[in-house]
Amino acid sequence: MAELRIHQEKVTPQNAAELIKLCPFAAISYENGKLDISSACKLCRMCVRKGPAGVVELVEEKAPEGVDKSSWKGITVYADATLTPEGTVKIHPVSFELLGKAKELAKVTGHEVYALLITPKGAEACAKELLEYGADKVYAYEDPMFTFFSNTTFAKAFEDFIEKVRPSSVLVGATNIGRSLAPRVAAHFRTGLTADCTSLEMKENTDLVQIRPAFGGNIMAQIITTNTRPQFATVRYKIFQQLPKESIENLSEAQLAEKIKVMKVDPAWEDKRIHVTNIEGLPPIKDISEAERIVAVGRGLKSPDDLQMARALADKLGAHLACSRALVETGWLDASHQIGLSGKTVKPKLIITLGISGAVQFAAGMKTSDCIIAVNTDPNAPIFDIAHYCLVGDLYEVADELMHLLDSLEEA
Ligand SMILES: Cc1cc2nc3c(=O)[nH]c(=O)nc-3n(C[C@H](O)[C@H](O)[C@H](O)COP(=O)(O)OP(=O)(O)OC[C@H]3O[C@@H](n4cnc5c(N)ncnc54)[C@H](O)[C@@H]3O)c2cc1C
Repeated sequence: MAELRIHQEKVTPQNAAELIKLCPFAAISYENGKLDISSACKLCRMCVRKGPAGVVELVEEKAPEGVDKSSWKGITVYADATLTPEGTVKIHPVSFELLGKAKELAKVTGHEVYALLITPKGAEACAKELLEYGADKVYAYEDPMFTFFSNTTFAKAFEDFIEKVRPSSVLVGATNIGRSLAPRVAAHFRTGLTADCTSLEMKENTDLVQIRPAFGGNIMAQIITTNTRPQFATVRYKIFQQLPKESIENLSEAQLAEKIKVMKVDPAWEDKRIHVTNIEGLPPIKDISEAERIVAVGRGLKSPDDLQMARALADKLGAHLACSRALVETGWLDASHQIGLSGKTVKPKLIITLGISGAVQFAAGMKTSDCIIAVNTDPNAPIFDIAHYCLVGDLYEVADELMHLLDSLEEA
């Protein structure tokens, strides 16, 4: 890490004008005798190398010395618990999927798998559920201050947990809450976070290999946090498999007490600057990540009116309608319908793609679907490389045939 330091005492109107002219990103300004560098700066260092001597200095931050990895143990999964409108606490299923993956990773290091639970109520029931899905221990923070999600309040509990338990790795579901909380906590500990990992591996030295697409999905980057702990990764829903639920009925009270650690909550953690005055539920939206059947449309569709045909086919199949980014960009469907790297990951039992080429960024979000039927006029379309059934043909003809077939099945 490096930053630019301005030596204001050396700034004159003349050298300020020189620096402003030099900066290719228009990041330098001069006002009221003060030189400023904005966030447009790309640290190209032109002002340091070519600018007036000594006015702008590049200060390199010393790399961390390294960390005693043996003093950080365990893989933690953040249990994404929220209060439902019915007043019960629900854990997002991505947390169970991450527990399944953590179990697999823990085999390499022999570490335990922990779940971190921050909840307004119902900690015991939630903790038991987390044990059933593979946690070895649950650390539970329960207090009404966690009724509504507040990044600052939740982060305090999260930080307390990390200071006390010192886990080596922390896995967080890439939900709205997870995406907000994980970077804040990672920044607090000045450690690394890799967002939206699509695969995770563990090294024997406890380095977590965080794998995710980079450069627009054209390469898979392997990212390692070598000098700091803990190492944070966020993972989207439906990337990993949850383990089957295991009964914990045979655990004695004493064993349960050993496994469920009730953590002390400090009243000072509550961020009193935020007052929630009213909560209004959004109308329920169909989440394509949850869908068992999907009809997905792409740029092969000729007009927005033709969405009606795709929607009718989806309805007939009891499927969700989804799309490639191309149709979101045209404004024909909103972003909640988009499958892919910058959309949602889906893993339905059946997906029919109509007029979608199968670019890597689209495929990244659906290639683990159980059955993929692709329709495309181009026999060389990349979608056919991952489809189980490949139909080379016009999507309108195929959709029409399919509708007739489904109608005749209904009549029979
Ligand atoms: C950083 C980044 C992130 C991205 N994220 C995503 C993402 O999350 N999701 C996503 O989808 N894309 C994403 N993209 C865009 C992606 O690269 C593709 O541009 C996009 O997926 C193309 O959509 P498409 O397949 O609908 O369109 P096209 O690639 O234009 O394909 C249309 C297909 O329809 C076929 N066709 C045409 N007419 C017919 C017909 N009558 N019947 C049958 N087939 C027909 C054509 O042969 C063609 O294969 C991303 C790109 C970048 C750079």
